[in-house]
Amino acid sequence: MRILLIEDELQLAETLRGALERERFIVDHADRIAVAREASLMASFDLVLLDRTLPDGDGLSLVQALRADHPGVAIIVLSARGEISDRIAGLDKGADDYLIKPFSLDEMLARVRAVRRRPADLAGETIRAGSLVYDLANDEASVEGVRLDLPRRELRVLAALLKPRGRTVLREMLEQAVYGFDDEVQSNALDSHISRLRRKLAEVGAGIEIHAIRGVGYLLRDVS
Ligand code: CA
Repeated sequence: MRILLIEDELQLAETLRGALERERFIVDHADRIAVAREASLMASFDLVLLDRTLPDGDGLSLVQALRADHPGVAIIVLSARGEISDRIAGLDKGADDYLIKPFSLDEMLARVRAVRRRPADLAGETIRAGSLVYDLANDEASVEGVRLDLPRRELRVLAALLKPRGRTVLREMLEQAVYGFDDEVQSNALDSHISRLRRKLAEVGAGIEIHAIRGVGYLLRDVS
């Protein structure tokens, strides 16, 4: 799951990012509305943590655009403005939850888990290919009921290849799916993830193959 964290207090942002990354989320950080708008257009997000008091305006003004860019995205507002009227304004603008600063990291993580369990997620959306099943809500892959123990970046590569099944996925789209904007991407890192993933998929008999399309990207298909 990929999270956009919009927060201008850098120390708080780093703390939140650390806590979320320990839970295996991919986190991108924006420190103001303009940066958040750009980030929102560049990648696909499952959850947004949104501060209200930002240097270039009220974070709530982003809610509508975030919803348009990412159908199904969950939005949790983070704010020191805890008056009932503020909370109502946040929820009325379309936020899913409202967390009042200061909050504990445990509470923040609990709220993140809670919005992930909303009915849309409970439907248990999965992608199947070969004998592999990918659970999108939990970012877990399994073959014949046995969960594959894959590092999160390999899971992200796998999900990005599975979603447009049968179509070639551009190299830059894969890199974008796997890395945060702030991460430095080594030029051959993606290929290393893919080659480890291929080996593991073959070992468990997943029945799928990842083909390299030279100069373009990668393609996942059933073993014929
Ligand atoms: Ca702020």
